[in-house]
Amino acid sequence: MSATPDPGATGPPGADDVRGPASGFVVPRFAGIATFARLPLINDVGTAHVAVVGVPFDTGTTYRPGARFGPSAIRQASRLLRPFNPHTGTFPFADHQVVDAGDIACTPFSADQAVSDIETGMRDLLTRAQIPIVLGGDHTVALPVLRCLHEKVGEPVAVVHFDAHLDTWNSYFGAAYTHGTPFRRAAEEGLLQRGHCVHVGVRGPLYGIEDLVDDSDLGFRIMSTPFVARIGAQETAETILAIVGDAPVYVSIDIDVLDPAFAPGTGTPEPGGLLSRELLAVLRSLRGIRLIGADVVEVSPAYDSSEVTALAAANVAYDVISLLAEPRAGPAYSH
Ligand code: MN
Ligand code: MN
Repeated sequence: MSATPDPGATGPPGADDVRGPASGFVVPRFAGIATFARLPLINDVGTAHVAVVGVPFDTGTTYRPGARFGPSAIRQASRLLRPFNPHTGTFPFADHQVVDAGDIACTPFSADQAVSDIETGMRDLLTRAQIPIVLGGDHTVALPVLRCLHEKVGEPVAVVHFDAHLDTWNSYFGAAYTHGTPFRRAAEEGLLQRGHCVHVGVRGPLYGIEDLVDDSDLGFRIMSTPFVARIGAQETAETILAIVGDAPVYVSIDIDVLDPAFAPGTGTPEPGGLLSRELLAVLRSLRGIRLIGADVVEVSPAYDSSEVTALAAANVAYDVISLLAEPRAGPAYSH
């Protein structure tokens, strides 16, 4: 509800240039046009530190389509997000300008053309915003975003990839750009820091042993779902922090990393996944990474139930954005 901002509801003293979300005490949460977390649109503020941007594209999907409706479903489900994150003691929308940059328009008729369209749209957005938080869309969208961020930071990027799947396959039906191939393309293009990239929450059947050999050759580490469940969220986060080191980090979150019980609304569900609370706990413990961008992809609302997947995705994005805010003194939830 960008037409009725209430910066005083969230902004710290002296930060009156930060617009923040519309106050839930002035405009009911269910009212108004849905921007992410009821944040202002980028055009209302000019430039921003963090921009949430939708990429409604699902032509790279290999099984159940529908992630083109992900951005609007996540925005709708994000209405209930409140300004203070007591898990990390942060005000994610108050330390700097966080906006909704709308959607990057791309063709639904050609994945090759769409990758180019997304790259153009993202490059344009990065002239106005420092850190993009992308709402997919299928996982194809990670490739053009990584190209733009690699170009921006001028060095290879460490990827922390939460997903049931490796997404380092070579091609499907001869197509190079699909939701199962973005990280192989990114590695081939030299966008990634070898040995500093990790898949988290991988599980389920593969085509063969060579899938794992190829993935390792591309420079990825694997933390499977059973492994994460055994060592717990805290140690998982500490392991991730050790792997990425001080590299610029892109966090890519395929919502199918969650168990289908928590994320039925997705294209390629795999049983035996993470709990929502496990994923959120890992994300909250990634404080200190040099975050340059993130995505939350593969929310397919037609397969969702009672918004459960979209709600998880909205909160996942919220906790990623919270990593960019400074913890405040005062009470917070203990872990
Ligand atoms: Mn997946
Ligand atoms: Mn994926």
